[in-house]
Amino acid sequence: MKANSRVAAIPLSETIALDTRAKELIAAGRDVLNLSAGEPDFDAPQVVRDAARAAVDGGQVRYTPAPGRKNLRDAIAKHLQDTRGVAFTGDEVIVCHSAKHALSGSLLGLIDPGDEVLLCLPAWVSYVEQIKFAGGTPVGAKPRDDMGPDWDALEAAVTPRTKGIIWNSPSNPSGYVATRAETERLVAFAERHDLWILSDEIYRRLTYGDAESVSPVEFGDAARARTVIVDGASKAYAMTGYRIGFLAAPADFAGAIGRLHSQLTGSPNAISQDAYLAALREEPAEVPGRVAEFERRRDAIVGGLRELGLDVPEPRGAFYVFPRVTPFLDERMSAGFCEDLLETEGLAIVPGSAFGMPEYVRFSYAAALETLQDAVARMGRFLAPRR
Ligand code: PMP
Ligand code: GLU
Repeated sequence: MKANSRVAAIPLSETIALDTRAKELIAAGRDVLNLSAGEPDFDAPQVVRDAARAAVDGGQVRYTPAPGRKNLRDAIAKHLQDTRGVAFTGDEVIVCHSAKHALSGSLLGLIDPGDEVLLCLPAWVSYVEQIKFAGGTPVGAKPRDDMGPDWDALEAAVTPRTKGIIWNSPSNPSGYVATRAETERLVAFAERHDLWILSDEIYRRLTYGDAESVSPVEFGDAARARTVIVDGASKAYAMTGYRIGFLAAPADFAGAIGRLHSQLTGSPNAISQDAYLAALREEPAEVPGRVAEFERRRDAIVGGLRELGLDVPEPRGAFYVFPRVTPFLDERMSAGFCEDLLETEGLAIVPGSAFGMPEYVRFSYAAALETLQDAVARMGRFLAPRR
């Protein structure tokens, strides 16, 4: 049976495809280091696991309201107030099956056919397909060399059909963290061109050194009125498999997405709602130590790749590093590079082409330090004969 043309056009997510392939090779006994998917290698914090078990044992396993339980929506509103410094109410929050679900619901609710949506390249792999599926056209704008927003490129990408922009700081795949001034400039840019802002803040908790995560909603009521925040449990609380996240937006838009989800997907996972609530009540004790560990890993892999002579834009958040490998590419660009690297050295990383920048590759450093050191050594062996 054939899928219709809209669905048939969707490729498998490249990050997920590579992760699956690497795991298959490992299961088949190959010596493969898998730095492809961006997923914390820690278990969920103790309070989360306890709450999930209590939900199962206490019978908290029925359908909930489609936008999520009120106690969780209120807790997320309070968390937003605490972390972004802006007041939210529970009816401005829609609990979703994941941040990915929050993004797809938001885009289905924002985009009219033919609308153009700006992406700051490099941009996470699923934005493009989600925009297209919602009937829009993604338009990428090239970054500066340090991976920050190039305002001239963004201005040049605006047309009368441009309706919105996706903003992702800290960024997957570059790890770039927008400064306060850049976030303020984004808000001014969106106001000038009358754009909505979809702010994907899933890596908000993971910043290093003096980098800080800033949300567009911090710049006044007008900014808040045109912004949808997406966030969730996957990255900060190592809860990727729990599948739980949220969007926060003005109540009329949030309500519309809640109704959409009531028809498309129904209520989010009841057990995960309780587990997420436990993480939000008080930051789990494990989190700060893990952020510090990510920073040590970042330093190790960035240092190692720079010693190999690669141009590595400084990642100040998330858990990815995005070096440029231009001198080592053939006509297959980063896709061929990553294929050969997996084949010859057993190192799985993601080609930058998945993020709109085919001269780069992405390493996830959500792995043990020794694994990262081994990965750098393998990369060194791979590059040596190609110099
Ligand atoms: N946004 C970005 C930038 C991501 O890297 C991810 C991770 N896959 C997501 C959203 C989705 O997170 P999840 O669906 O696991 O909540
Ligand atoms: N966000 C992760 C990544 O980019 C997980 C995989 C996915 O959902 O695409 O690798």
